[in-house]
Amino acid sequence: MIDTQSVKTHDVIVIGGGAAGIGVGVALKHAGIENFVILERHIIGASFAAWPAETRFITPSFPTNSIGMLDLNSIAVGVSPAFSLEVEHPTGEEFASHLIAVAQFFELPVQEETHVLRVTKIGDEFRVDTDSETLRAKHVIWAAGEFQYPRISGFQGAELCRHTATVKSYEEIEGDNLIVIGGYESGVDAAYHLSFYDKKVKLFEKGCPWKDESSDPSIALSTYSLERMREDWFKENVELFPYTSISSIEQTDRGFEVRTADDRRFETEEQPLLAAGFVGSHLLVSDLFESRDDGFPVLSENDESTVTPGLFLCGPAVRHDNHIFCFIYKYRQRFAVVAKSIATSLGLPAEELEIYRKWGMYLDDLSCCGEECASC
Ligand SMILES: Cc1cc2nc3c(=O)[nH]c(=O)nc-3n(C[C@H](O)[C@H](O)[C@H](O)COP(=O)(O)OP(=O)(O)OC[C@H]3O[C@@H](n4cnc5c(N)ncnc54)[C@H](O)[C@@H]3O)c2cc1C
Repeated sequence: MIDTQSVKTHDVIVIGGGAAGIGVGVALKHAGIENFVILERHIIGASFAAWPAETRFITPSFPTNSIGMLDLNSIAVGVSPAFSLEVEHPTGEEFASHLIAVAQFFELPVQEETHVLRVTKIGDEFRVDTDSETLRAKHVIWAAGEFQYPRISGFQGAELCRHTATVKSYEEIEGDNLIVIGGYESGVDAAYHLSFYDKKVKLFEKGCPWKDESSDPSIALSTYSLERMREDWFKENVELFPYTSISSIEQTDRGFEVRTADDRRFETEEQPLLAAGFVGSHLLVSDLFESRDDGFPVLSENDESTVTPGLFLCGPAVRHDNHIFCFIYKYRQRFAVVAKSIATSLGLPAEELEIYRKWGMYLDDLSCCGEECASC
């Protein structure tokens, strides 16, 4: 029996030590909040460290601090992965080392190897059950990400596939003829590396993100991936199947049979790769949020749950209307909003957060850029 009365109450518990958890942790410090802890079930940056070895950031890093702009991949004001890593498109491993350095520099209170099992609200306080203890907090920020919660569903037999989030290196994938299902960033990334290793790839995608006319990279394919698709080895080895939904996969004597919705059949000896995105960790706390029609949490204008006051969401699952905050340069815009809201609730003035406004980040409003733009 846990004696929760004897446990110290934190002002804030942040769950997850990835880009969102570390970034919002820095914002909490800037807001003058000291009594908080970041709980991380593995080590800081664990999801990035688990990316396939060849996978790189699609968003470029460039040191722009000298004129008061943030590197697209910065998670804190005045910090630049381009400057510290000296690469334009970091690997996951490199970015994880950057996150560790940021956490050390800002002396963030991170408790690693602490797996959060449950969050409940009792009266005015949150109870956070971990695999080793129960903690209490006035506010909780859910920042447990998506990568460790892959989507392995969507059609019959999806569980027979291997999700790209479990690939350690594309060089180690066996066989010469591969099927990749999903043609957004991760699927194109997989096809690019497999084709580089001289493998033939069939890439199935229910839409056609490489032809989408949206100016939002959360919808259309990034320029980095479009450039990759123009490489000779990609053009030679990858066969594209746009507007082709997979309806089922079955295991056969010779391997796998992949069927499309328009009833074409493709055989492969190798386990098909699935790049179908992520269900996301927010499902673990779905009882504490209202849900939008698309399954993402309904958030207040401060990214707080509309049914559980004091619970905030940070990271790529943040949605407001039709704005998708799935990249660092998008979801970091919300760190100061969350920190300010919590500081205000704790009675702190949060003046230090004005620094975020100086760096072109938002403190008060929900607009994408403060005026009508193509992305809005
Ligand atoms: C392959 C890939 C490429 C991407 N490329 C880019 C890019 O180029 N640019 C860009 O801006 N974005 C990119 N993204 C999107 C996004 O920035 C990343 O998904 C990023 O990891 C999100 O950060 P996060 O902190 O929310 O999640 P994560 O990095 O997953 O961090 C969450 C942390 O929470 C921990 N955790 C999970 N569950 C628990 C629990 N129950 N208890 C305690 N801790 C827990 C995890 O161990 C993890 O360390 C990419 C995503 C993927 C998958």
